[in-house]
Amino acid sequence: MYSAVVLAGGKGSRFGGSTPKQYIPVLGRPLIYYSLVAFERSKVSEVILVTDPADTEYIKSEILKKYGIIKVAAFAPGGKERYESVYNGLKCVNEDHVLIHDGARALITPEEIDLLCEASDRTGAAIAAVKSTDTVKLTDGGDVISDTPSRSRVWCAMTPQAFETGLIKEAYGRLMADGDAALVTDDASVVERYTDREVSLIEVSHDNIKVTRPTDVVIVESVLQMRGFQA
Ligand code: C5P
Repeated sequence: MYSAVVLAGGKGSRFGGSTPKQYIPVLGRPLIYYSLVAFERSKVSEVILVTDPADTEYIKSEILKKYGIIKVAAFAPGGKERYESVYNGLKCVNEDHVLIHDGARALITPEEIDLLCEASDRTGAAIAAVKSTDTVKLTDGGDVISDTPSRSRVWCAMTPQAFETGLIKEAYGRLMADGDAALVTDDASVVERYTDREVSLIEVSHDNIKVTRPTDVVIVESVLQMRGFQA
């Protein structure tokens, strides 16, 4: 069985404005609703929602109750950095496998979530990803190119990222003990660094963007409308 840790604990500093991006209205509903409804329609059995504790009552009344979302089993407090939010969420997980998801990726589908569940069953560590359509340039930290990896080898990591619960908890336990989290921007990298488990890539749709800039909201709204969501 599968748990999901859905992250909505960020302050959205790159997004601007006073409303955290997870609550920006999209077709009349807060952005985070769309990730929650995708998990609701998937084979995940429980969702741990990571948020600022001050938002819990708002979420319960204005999202869960209002739209009949029943899989949110627990709330965990958001941390200062994403990895701290994940660590807090993992403490509440009950099932053998866990999918960690950026709540800001509102266009994830139930079918893609189920693919990640099945991949975690097979391999114990698998992440949603897309092949890069851009050529990636590496630098030595400045603005001069040091290398150009072959585009056929470059994938862009997304979420959900799915793991055996024991594996990801062990990896995060080591990260927290180590204290060196500066380069941790996704969960697979924690498994890569602290375990010898291989992590598989599961190709999903390029639509699975993370709402980061105001124009992303326009894209998300259009795709949701194409999928039949209405304001
Ligand atoms: O900031 P970024 O876009 O990378 O955030 C990805 C996801 O992680 C978002 O859904 C955000 O709400 C969440 N997050 C969090 N706690 C943080 C930072 C980000 O839950 N401290």
